[in-house]
Amino acid sequence: MKKTIFPFLICLSLAACSNTGHTKENKTAADMNPQFDKYKVSFIENLWKVYPGWASSQGYHKYDSVLIVPDDASRAREAVFCKANLDSLKTFDLSALSDNNKTDYYMIENQLKSSEWALTEQKSFEWDPSNYNVSGAFAEILNGNYDSLDIRLRNFNLRMANISAYYEAAKKNIKNPTLEHTALAIDQNLGGISVFEKDLHEALNKVHFGEHEKQMLEANAKESVKAIKDYAAWLKNLDNKTPRSFRLGKELYAKKFEFDIQSGYTVDQIYEKALAHKKELHKKMFELADKLWSKYVDNPLTWGQKGPMKKPTDSLQLIKMLIDKISEKHVRPDSFQITIERQIPKLVDFINKKNLIYIDPSKPLVVRKEPDYMAGVAGASISAPGPYDKNGNTYYNVGTLSGWDKEKAESYLREYNYYVLQILSIHEAIPGHYTQLVYSNQSPSLIKSLFGNNAMIEGWAVYSERMMLESGYDDSPEMWLMYYKWNLRSTCNTILDYSVHTKNMSKEEAMNLLINEAFQQKTEAEGKWKRVSVTQVQLCCYFTGYTEIYDFREELKKQMGDKFNLKQFHEKFLSYGSAPVKYIKELMTAEIKKK
Ligand code: ZN
Ligand code: ZN
Repeated sequence: MKKTIFPFLICLSLAACSNTGHTKENKTAADMNPQFDKYKVSFIENLWKVYPGWASSQGYHKYDSVLIVPDDASRAREAVFCKANLDSLKTFDLSALSDNNKTDYYMIENQLKSSEWALTEQKSFEWDPSNYNVSGAFAEILNGNYDSLDIRLRNFNLRMANISAYYEAAKKNIKNPTLEHTALAIDQNLGGISVFEKDLHEALNKVHFGEHEKQMLEANAKESVKAIKDYAAWLKNLDNKTPRSFRLGKELYAKKFEFDIQSGYTVDQIYEKALAHKKELHKKMFELADKLWSKYVDNPLTWGQKGPMKKPTDSLQLIKMLIDKISEKHVRPDSFQITIERQIPKLVDFINKKNLIYIDPSKPLVVRKEPDYMAGVAGASISAPGPYDKNGNTYYNVGTLSGWDKEKAESYLREYNYYVLQILSIHEAIPGHYTQLVYSNQSPSLIKSLFGNNAMIEGWAVYSERMMLESGYDDSPEMWLMYYKWNLRSTCNTILDYSVHTKNMSKEEAMNLLINEAFQQKTEAEGKWKRVSVTQVQLCCYFTGYTEIYDFREELKKQMGDKFNLKQFHEKFLSYGSAPVKYIKELMTAEIKKK
């Protein structure tokens, strides 16, 4: 599932280290910062006791052996934890906190309220059977190298003890689940069985456990597989006469948007903005396609035997025709990796020349061939170390197309053609995700690396694409046309998500939007439909974050006139870490007013 969302690989595990004092922060008379720092440490310690699985996934391995049974008792403990911490937060005077702690405060508060809402209102533990799947965490225990394999396998064994009880509780929780999440749960659970059969077996061959211990592990694994298969079979045979719709509905959707995105705009405002933006993009694309027509199509050199082509009267058709033509300019399969590698220094040079943002030369991006376990994804993505892995490197993973059949490679290379490949490196690396990461590590906050705001993170990457083109990185009409197509994707993701979940958009209408209005291939559009039927709100984060950052910049430009400086804006904006844009905006505006 995660692999199919490439290239928008979400960089959730932002690197950051623990709090190291706050030398830059103001010491006021009633300095509450030391107290708040202490509170944060204990908050996270307790958080991991309530959510041990989450802890392991973030690289905190103290509770690897614990699998929580998702029953009433565990939900009650979660509710108590949320309530207690919301009360604790109230004892702090927000105005006495540093900017870094203020945003941390907001993010903790949002996390707790969101959990309360999930328990009492959203209740996906009742209708989404794919909430229950144990194999991912077990696979991580086998693959991680934070401890010896002996220790990891013993934790693996202890963790298996609760698997049967876990799935029994799941069955009790589930009521009228959606058909889509039921099918997903069956697929994912059955898909995960190989962890307990193949992977565990291979790992056991590498350690020197006694026969008895090995047998015990194998026996427990057998029981686990049985519990997983039982769950899948139970779902298949479920008498589900009145399944819930996978569409979240207006009320829950608006609330989820509020918690997950934490935007300064309401979801209705964002939807209206996306519609207007789509219209504007189509208009600009038509102007470019019209201009490029004579160069690419109405040109005796490209006529072929049939003579001149007729120019389509439909503007969307004309745009599509030009996009298809321009996509033909792409690299050969064997130079895919090297092309991406060579882009990095080019991007850095351009940014320095244009004074767009300071790029720390002591923290170069390590470009590497995509590791085996990521194979098949191709393209490029950023891997950042988790919050507890202070010395880990950040990598720019570049995939290879070797072994792909000709047709698949050709279609992929057309999609990631000469123009889009450059936008991809801007987005993933410089000045997109990688640069943002380097800045966020300068104001280290464990809270922000755990609850990092995705709309801000993705919004920055999407914003940086447009900013680079506006600064003249490649001013050709071809580049702009391909960029608009790329930008249309995140715009239409938002329209799609909102319309499907709150306006009953049909699959047919969705396909029309994605294929005819966003110029996507049928396979991509089908994949998007599948994604929107099992996720909610997530598809909105790119466009929302981008719009907020861009609007904020334009506002400041107007206010500050000659005093506005793009480089300063970027550096200041990123200095607040991965906080929601609305808080960054509030803090930055207050600081500008002070001056
Ligand atoms: Zn991204
Ligand atoms: Zn080709």
